[in-house]
Amino acid sequence: MHPDLIESVPLETQICYLIASALFILSLKWLSAPTTSRKGVLVGEIGMAIAILGTLRMPEIQTFQWIIICILVGTAVGVPLAMLMPMTAVPQRTALSHAFGGLAVGCVGTAEYFTSLHATTHLTAFKMGVLALEVLLGFLTFTGSLMAFGKLQEILPSRPLVYKGQNFINLMLLVAAIFVGVSLVVDPTKSVLFPALVVLALLFGILLIIPIGGADMPTVISLLNSYAGMSASAMGFVLDNKLLIIAGALDGSSGFILSIIMCKAMNRSFINVLFGAFGQAPTGAAAAQEKRNVRSAQAEEAAQILGSASTVVIVPGYGMAVAQAQHKVRELYDQLTKRGVEVRFGIHPVAGRMPGHMNVLLAEADIPYDRLSEMEDVNPEMSHTDVVLIIGANDVTNPAARHDKSSPIYGMPIIDCDKARTVMVIKRSMSSGFAGIDNELYYMDKTLMLFGDAKGFVGEMVKELASNND
Ligand code: NDP
Repeated sequence: MHPDLIESVPLETQICYLIASALFILSLKWLSAPTTSRKGVLVGEIGMAIAILGTLRMPEIQTFQWIIICILVGTAVGVPLAMLMPMTAVPQRTALSHAFGGLAVGCVGTAEYFTSLHATTHLTAFKMGVLALEVLLGFLTFTGSLMAFGKLQEILPSRPLVYKGQNFINLMLLVAAIFVGVSLVVDPTKSVLFPALVVLALLFGILLIIPIGGADMPTVISLLNSYAGMSASAMGFVLDNKLLIIAGALDGSSGFILSIIMCKAMNRSFINVLFGAFGQAPTGAAAAQEKRNVRSAQAEEAAQILGSASTVVIVPGYGMAVAQAQHKVRELYDQLTKRGVEVRFGIHPVAGRMPGHMNVLLAEADIPYDRLSEMEDVNPEMSHTDVVLIIGANDVTNPAARHDKSSPIYGMPIIDCDKARTVMVIKRSMSSGFAGIDNELYYMDKTLMLFGDAKGFVGEMVKELASNND
């Protein structure tokens, strides 16, 4: 919006924006706890509806024809996407949303630049500065998020793609983009520089994400979320739209805080993440999928071992989510507690494919919340645990993260399953997890592989225990 229109923002729009801003803040507050998160989503949706209604009252909107067409097309794509998308695919859907958000922001910035250039209104240094920031963040979020989508969907290799001098090249690209942006601030009429800014941003987005391995994707998603928010906030300054400034700042800062939390959880340097400089190529033993012997067992034997244990820790992972085994896991929990076995669940912060994934699934199956232990609480207990039962988890249990410097997951905290007296692992085969690396836990003498689909295998163990309990 141009400065001469600021005064003409209708009062009802301003009131709508005020209410929407308050609802967004409330929504974020409620989203931070599992017990209030549904309320948080609802309040956020109401806030967004009010914000759209307020915007539709703006005097620049002369006709609704194109807006209605776009709403219908968006709804036709969005509703089936939300209804049909399995929960395990939420990260890639989120990455796609960020990509489209970034593209929209970048396109609005580009349109605003060329419109302002040919209009009588002057592109002030401030406006050009935020516009350059908007375009840089918008377009880098677009390509960066597409790369993240490709890796998560496994269209692109999820392993880190690294080459010599990568960090230096990334840094130089960023410096070049900043230089072009500053040159435009100094002289906004140098329109030939604008496409260069766009190309540098698009390239930086790609190069930022390719060195990052699959296991580090959670950190990247939250960082891209933060970039998308910050670009929207910059767009708010360009368009002088206060709601966009507030909503973008909320999104940007919460994504930023989440990135820092994720970096701590994954033991990664935040600065390296910012410049895409934390990928490592898997080398040597970590990269090789050796043919080694493992011990395996059937459901009957596994149920006997579980039934005669005093303490059992269940470590769920992505495979439990894919198999939708949480209700069978609840039955297993019931059977074991009936026999007096002390059962806890060890939850890794990035188990599954989204933060809180395991908590959501286990809550859905009504597993008591006080039985769920965070990684840092359950790890000290591992050496006193009789049996750890891993259900479809892999990377988050891989001891290579502790000692193998050549491993792409080196440094990531894991659940110390290898310290339990007996380890049992339910998975369908010897395939690797999301990081694409072998897990040495499977070859330990105390490990029993329980090959099968998580839901089917747990179901068989439940039957065994139930027939013995009766
Ligand atoms: P992993 O992806 O490492 O491993 C999952 C295992 O589940 C696989 O080895 C697979 O083995 C097994 N599996 C798949 N389907 C089934 C099934 N139907 N029944 C039984 N087992 C099955 O999962 P983790 O939870 O251990 O780790 C999560 C990974 O995802 C980490 O690398 C993390 O960084 C990454 N990530 C996490 C995100 C988050 O926010 N939580 C977001 C994006 C990525 P098999 O094929 O042999 O059955």
